[in-house]
Amino acid sequence: MEYDVIVVGAGNAAQAAANSARENGAEKVLILEKASEADRGGNTHYSGGLLRIAFDTAEDLRPMVPEADQEITGFFEDVEPYTKDDFWGDLLRVTANKTDRDLATILIDNSYDTIRWMKEYVGIPMEPATSLAGIRVGNRVKWQKGAVIRAEAEGVGLSKHWFLKSESNGIEIRYETGALDLITDQAGTVVGVKAKGPNGIEELRAKAVVLGCGGFEANAQWRAQYLSPPWDHAKVRGTKHNQGDGLRMAFAIGAMPWGQWSGKHSTPISNEWPDFADRKRTDKSNRLSYPYAVMLNRSGLRFCDEGEDMGLYTYAKYGGQILNQPGSMAWQIFDQKTIHLLEPRYKTSDPIQADTLEALLEQLEFDDRAQALRTLEAYNAAAPADGDGRFDPSKKDGVRTAGLSPEKTNWALRLDKPPFVAYSATGGITFTFGGLKVDEHARVIGTDWRPIKGLFTCGEMVGGLFHFNYPGGTGLVSGAVFGRIAGRSAARQL
Ligand SMILES: Cc1cc2nc3c(=O)[nH]c(=O)nc-3n(C[C@H](O)[C@H](O)[C@H](O)COP(=O)(O)OP(=O)(O)OC[C@H]3O[C@@H](n4cnc5c(N)ncnc54)[C@H](O)[C@@H]3O)c2cc1C
Repeated sequence: MEYDVIVVGAGNAAQAAANSARENGAEKVLILEKASEADRGGNTHYSGGLLRIAFDTAEDLRPMVPEADQEITGFFEDVEPYTKDDFWGDLLRVTANKTDRDLATILIDNSYDTIRWMKEYVGIPMEPATSLAGIRVGNRVKWQKGAVIRAEAEGVGLSKHWFLKSESNGIEIRYETGALDLITDQAGTVVGVKAKGPNGIEELRAKAVVLGCGGFEANAQWRAQYLSPPWDHAKVRGTKHNQGDGLRMAFAIGAMPWGQWSGKHSTPISNEWPDFADRKRTDKSNRLSYPYAVMLNRSGLRFCDEGEDMGLYTYAKYGGQILNQPGSMAWQIFDQKTIHLLEPRYKTSDPIQADTLEALLEQLEFDDRAQALRTLEAYNAAAPADGDGRFDPSKKDGVRTAGLSPEKTNWALRLDKPPFVAYSATGGITFTFGGLKVDEHARVIGTDWRPIKGLFTCGEMVGGLFHFNYPGGTGLVSGAVFGRIAGRSAARQL
């Protein structure tokens, strides 16, 4: 039997491709999922479901979250617009101007429509992302800009609804069936996939193939090779199945690598977490309230400006900075002035507490405990008393240290209100930035700079958008945008 479109992978991007292919006229669509049914859905399942989109007024969000103001007083008055220019500004700033302009244009211009499509065509329920992007001030919520809504029930809900839609859309899904190779004809056109499933190896024919099978974050060898040590030892925040299979298959037929191959998204996570994420606790490993903390490495030294920016603009690079510290770990230390600001996810660890800083440090592993105390004392001496009365967690407040290296440039409150509390952190890898070059139709481009006929890609496999860092909530939107385009292009056999 010949399929119209075979989609490799079953995460957000692949599912967007498969359903878009159906919507655009493809009748026989097959999804290949390497994981078992119990383990399905890739990183999408583990994600926080946060969605960064451009919109001109908060009212534009009403179709996605019609009841938001019933749950949260003043939602549609308090959320600030996030225009395409705002999105551009953030993407350029955090990627040091390296983002691929053509891809970024497609991402930003299609972000709103695509998320609306996910709500209206796919039926994915959405909600305000209060715990991730909102800060309660009195009885109102102050919102970070851009990423204010998410899939209801986060990645678990997102993945579940994608599978429901694929099933109701008549898309065949084969579990425990991993693509091994792409099949090409004499002209070099992709005409199918060689896959290994429960009954062995099979050749599956199709008019077009979409690769949506993730990056190489779960592959220790590729991490060592492209990201360099100590990334081969990093804990993986998501699925164990993203081993770079799709990238390897595409290179084998002449696809072009694109983007920052040494780049990755990684975040501060609990150092107590296992090597691969726990499917039930999904993304609850994150330890992202460090803007209100002082972070110390095992040598007892600070190593970054914890308050450089709002958390969603630094979390994706600070994971790596922690991983590069001695023993690949750090301690986050808080006092009672900010403890109420900790993300709910901290509840998955037992805090270490003490009434004095000395007694707290006694309980923590250090190579140089005396230095740790000196560092905290120097920090307290350099931070303004009571934050000069200007402490404001809802924005960069400019409450900063003076005379430290590195300085803490916002939210620099003294640690002086016991009991003091510590949590461990390490750097967990989320996904890799290096990928394939695609054009505006999501066609994979070969090293001859021409499209490889019959081959499309989307999601983490698209290279070029992210470099060094990443604005929170962009991965899922980029996956859906390019997935939707890839599915449409595959159905039309562009
Ligand atoms: C803990 C965590 C939290 C996150 N939170 C957010 C968030 O809140 N907002 C956001 O925008 N992004 C978030 N992300 C990033 C986001 O999850 C990813 O960018 C996105 O899910 C990638 O989608 P994808 O479809 O490309 O890949 P995935 O969802 O990883 O799907 C890849 C699929 O390919 C399958 N596969 C792999 N190899 C093969 C093969 N050879 N054959 C067949 N199938 C194969 C896998 O099993 C899987 O089904 C988070 C990620 C993690 C890990």
